Amino acid sequence: ASGYTLLRDPRFNKGLAFTEKERDAHYLSGLLPPIVISQETQVKKLIQHIRQYEVPLHKYMAMMDLQERNERLFYKLLLDHVEELLPVVYTPTVGEACQKYGSIFMHPQGLYISLKEKGRILEVLGNWPEKNIQVIVVTDGERILGLGDLGCQGMGIPVGKLSLYTALGGVRPSSCLPITIDVGTNNEKLLNDELYIGLKHRRVTGQEYAELLNEFMTAVKQNYGEKILVQFEDFANHNAFDLLEKYRSTHLVFNDDIQGTASVVLAGLIAALKLVGGNLTDHRFLFLGAGEAGTGIAELIALETSKRTNTPLDEVRKNIWLVDSKGLIVSSRKESLQHFKKPWAHEHEPVTELVDAINQIKPTVLIGTSGQGRTFTKDVVEAMASNNEKPIILALSNPTSQSECTAEEAYTWSEGRAIFASGSPFAPVEFDGKVFVPGQANNAYIFPGFGLGLIMSGTIRVHDDLLLAASEALASQVSQEDYDKGLIYPPFTNIRKISAHIAANVAAKSYELGLATRLPQPKDLVKFAEGSMYTPAYRCYR
Ligand code: NAP
Ligand code: MN
Repeated sequence: ASGYTLLRDPRFNKGLAFTEKERDAHYLSGLLPPIVISQETQVKKLIQHIRQYEVPLHKYMAMMDLQERNERLFYKLLLDHVEELLPVVYTPTVGEACQKYGSIFMHPQGLYISLKEKGRILEVLGNWPEKNIQVIVVTDGERILGLGDLGCQGMGIPVGKLSLYTALGGVRPSSCLPITIDVGTNNEKLLNDELYIGLKHRRVTGQEYAELLNEFMTAVKQNYGEKILVQFEDFANHNAFDLLEKYRSTHLVFNDDIQGTASVVLAGLIAALKLVGGNLTDHRFLFLGAGEAGTGIAELIALETSKRTNTPLDEVRKNIWLVDSKGLIVSSRKESLQHFKKPWAHEHEPVTELVDAINQIKPTVLIGTSGQGRTFTKDVVEAMASNNEKPIILALSNPTSQSECTAEEAYTWSEGRAIFASGSPFAPVEFDGKVFVPGQANNAYIFPGFGLGLIMSGTIRVHDDLLLAASEALASQVSQEDYDKGLIYPPFTNIRKISAHIAANVAAKSYELGLATRLPQPKDLVKFAEGSMYTPAYRCYR
């Protein structure tokens, strides 16, 4: 290739880091200013550049621009400054980016499959330049974070998630494929927006929707084989549970909102036991929000507890309560409940207010998965704090605007006694002369390592036990130093090491269950995971 093309291909471009020899050998002389600088210096320059932007969305755009220009530098920068840049390429900023995707749209990213492509999805997959795809993240944009239906503009999510697969989990960027399925949108604002990039009609549902998804799932397997991992992301719950149920026995699929969230929260709870004492059976759980995240977490807590104590699932479930938009889920509502809520409809009087539910059920753990900001009010946090010495409060809804409460509120209203974590990051809080560092209960801890574990072992189906294996691995990575700060998650700075442990534990379980096809089984799975990770350091061109 000519030097000029090399500079314009993000997979190969090194900018000023091309050495003298490389410049000579690849017709680059004169195309770059004479100075040669290292990748480390480039990272230093870029992080300063990004810090100059005050508006988070501008930081996001600068990052996307870099990804399009110099892929390895993008990943090096992201990995070297992961705590600082995660909130830029992921929640909360990615949410704003999706809302404004139409107007900030520069280079098309990922693959768009709309109703227009019905009947020729296989052909469309063939247009993607990379052939060896290992993981697809797909959305239909109907429930983007807690922001609702963003239609085709949901593309920011699969793109962001897959950049974390690479940065945090070490999956090669060329084997990642972000996909948005466009069946329309019910978002009136977008339908009336002349800059909206998707199909301008209301969502197609029922058989037509099912047919498009079925064609997609069939085409994906036909094109990439049995072991292609498909991660469903940000589908509305009326489709999410059904899609998972339909494809879990025929494809390697997993739903991050249901299963990834469950795994990360269970890890936090296992870790929290070290701080509050007791085992899972000694705790009572109350959720605000009974959708994908809420019922997914509830189910995995029940499964782990049941396994640990040899108690039937139904028995364990009785300690777990959920509140939805109509109030506490109780048996008298059973007839009218969606199927995924039915297992949680226990005997109780109807209760509409969260604070009343807390005072009657007396949970030790309160988990917010409602997508509704400011729902853990002062009353709510105070009720938790008056019933518990150390209340565990998790405000999981994203982005920050939808968080059930802020870190400051949780610590202040509980007089510094809450064990708190949130889905989107909050800065440390000072209360009564003490500094509290809130943890981030975000599935970004789990899915990259989980996916790597599946890929490196050639796993063919996802089993719930693999999620439990991921939770246990993550919980084991919390150090005494973290516990001393009140943290129930390890810092993201060690994420590659954490991901390797998660991948290894998931793979080990998969071999044990006979789901792994890569034989023989590597002896040291942690080493194997580390060894199979993509590193963003530049390569030498001869
Ligand atoms: P979902 O399936 O749509 O569920 C939302 C649930 O919240 C529904 O049960 C809904 O009630 C309930 N709800 C809505 N408004 C409420 C209110 N005012 N009071 C009580 N309940 C209310 O959504 P999801 O997939 O579970 O996601 C929910 C939130 O979790 C989103 O903000 C998402 O960003 C966040 N999340 C975070 C993570 C993480 O890693 N931290 C992972 C996944 C999701 P009805 O059923 O009655 O409609
Ligand atoms: Mn999601």
